[in-house]
Amino acid sequence: MTTAYKVITKIDGKGVFHLFPELCKGCGLCMEKCPVKTIGWAKELGVFGTPVVEPGHGEPCIACKTCEMVCPDCAILIERRKDEKAD
Ligand code: SF4
Ligand code: SF4
Repeated sequence: MTTAYKVITKIDGKGVFHLFPELCKGCGLCMEKCPVKTIGWAKELGVFGTPVVEPGHGEPCIACKTCEMVCPDCAILIERRKDEKAD
């Protein structure tokens, strides 16, 4: 049996930001570490009833994947937009 997680996908700057709300506990670590501060609180709620995160709150995403790497719960997956060139 496979488990399908709900996913919220938002495009911001060079990145396609996928957030799995059933994994996000709203710790804010991704927000703290994002170099361009694009991550902020969203209206959707996560696993503990706290807000999840979304991009679009600062400078455009540079698709560095720092948020994906620091999230302790693997709640973020970043893809580089296919129409964007690598830096
Ligand atoms: S990929 Fe980098 S720039 Fe984009 S939201 Fe994550 S930490 Fe911020
Ligand atoms: S995505 Fe991960 S690091 Fe960011 S608030 Fe949710 S659990 Fe914390």
